Amino acid sequence: MKPYRSLVLVSSDPRSMERGAQDVFNRLQTEIKKFNMEEEISLSMVGDVGRNDASPIVIVYPEAVIYGPVKEDDIPFIVEEHLYKGRIASDFQAPVKELSGHIAWVASRKGTMPAEHRIVLERAGLIDPLSIDDYILHNGYEALGKVLSELKPAELISFIKDSGLRGRGGAGFPTGLKWQFVASAPGDQKYVICNADEAEPGTFKDRVLLEGDPHSIIEAMTIAGYAVGASVGYIYVRGEYQLAQERLRTAINQAEDAGLLGEDIFGSGFNFEIHVHSGAGAYICGEETALLESMEGKRGEPRSRPPYPTTAGLWNKPTLVNNVETLANIPAILRNEPGWFKSIGTKSSPGTKVYTIMGHVNNTGLIEVPMGITLREVISLYGKGMKEGSVLKLAQTGGSSGSLVPASLQDTPMDYDSFNNTGVSLGSGALLICDQSTCVVDLAKVLMNFFRKESCGKCNPCRIGNQRAFEILANIAEGTGTMEDLNDLQMISDNLVQLSNCGLGQTAGTPLRDIMKYFHAEVEAHIRLKVCPTGTCPMSGHRI
Ligand code: SF4
Repeated sequence: MKPYRSLVLVSSDPRSMERGAQDVFNRLQTEIKKFNMEEEISLSMVGDVGRNDASPIVIVYPEAVIYGPVKEDDIPFIVEEHLYKGRIASDFQAPVKELSGHIAWVASRKGTMPAEHRIVLERAGLIDPLSIDDYILHNGYEALGKVLSELKPAELISFIKDSGLRGRGGAGFPTGLKWQFVASAPGDQKYVICNADEAEPGTFKDRVLLEGDPHSIIEAMTIAGYAVGASVGYIYVRGEYQLAQERLRTAINQAEDAGLLGEDIFGSGFNFEIHVHSGAGAYICGEETALLESMEGKRGEPRSRPPYPTTAGLWNKPTLVNNVETLANIPAILRNEPGWFKSIGTKSSPGTKVYTIMGHVNNTGLIEVPMGITLREVISLYGKGMKEGSVLKLAQTGGSSGSLVPASLQDTPMDYDSFNNTGVSLGSGALLICDQSTCVVDLAKVLMNFFRKESCGKCNPCRIGNQRAFEILANIAEGTGTMEDLNDLQMISDNLVQLSNCGLGQTAGTPLRDIMKYFHAEVEAHIRLKVCPTGTCPMSGHRI
């Protein structure tokens, strides 16, 4: 590739585009041309860099300076000062007040925040997602080359098992073991599916990865296909993620043209093809067996298990279903050895986890940090503390299907086993931080409203339980609840967790269980005193 004096990147995630990233990019082109610097400066659009508060962002390398949020009118000054005169435009007051140039990460780029450790998001926001050359320049397809030239499928599976990688979709199942189940299942035709139907409210980590580094998923799926003996892969992408789908299709075409996908990859005799399948908007299709039904052209309803997809998946063939974040770890593990991966995170949950931070904190966005970090650390280091006047009351970990973690548990290490031992779940990685103004009855009511609408209706505990729980919570919020309602909520929660057919119903009982366990007094106050302690609930006395 041609060497440039500077590399300038503009964020192009949907939020940045909405806020004028294209105008910023166009103006950069014009201004760079004005100073005759087109031959010296490489200008590209990249995906989301995880700083929602500052988009659109302009990043200038090799100094690794981030400017954001940037407006089109800021560009002449940035180009003249930084790119032409070589002075970082960080300490000026005008001409545009909102312009805030600051060095946000060092050249080695561990992340956008101090102490972040990026593995899966290593390249997102750094490379041009539309350039396979850029991906290859940043160690892309090195792991695939190593696998196809040095490792037999069984050795590759042992390698992944040794790393201790666990599925990042929420359950934390050992990835190598899952690969082994598919590899040893009888059948000539096998499939690899990347579950990119990211519909959990508040979660957007997969989108950032798919938009910013699509080749990493293609490389990882091809490696997985080689390991389990599959020749076809599908990426099931949430329908709303149009930009991600476009970039994946472009990346697939580029990889095929380069001989890195398709027939006889690297001259190894191994064939693998990948197709993009767009979801149609149902939350339940993120559940792996509902996803399979949907791919087969049927209504997206979860299957009864066993048999599991590892032996009878897509069109009844052995199928490996892995989540985006899980797959994105694979190339890095192969490039760096299992021991390296195990040195990050905790003993039982090695590696990193990508979290999206929202709610009553000063800084929201996306981070990738070692497993085992605590909620307190996330809030103080990455959330930049609670908002002025806010005190942590609870955090919802893992989106709607996650747990409501009270402030008293904020020092629990966030890894699969520590959270399980405490009776809460890590979930998908969305962290909704709530302060004292959050009413737990109102929060649970919103969640049950979500679940009653998203339930596929196949089994009674979920179809009826979520509806009834919503009605009871609505009554409690209106000031017409009874103490008997608490027993009913507990019973519904137990039924949901124990009797539901799939993860949606099983996790729908979690918020009910958590408000009864950790915030019982607050729920009771709504019933006995007809008072909402936070002043959120209407208490108008209309019974549903
Ligand atoms: Fe459908 Fe809910 Fe039953 Fe899952 S638990 S199969 S979403 S009704």
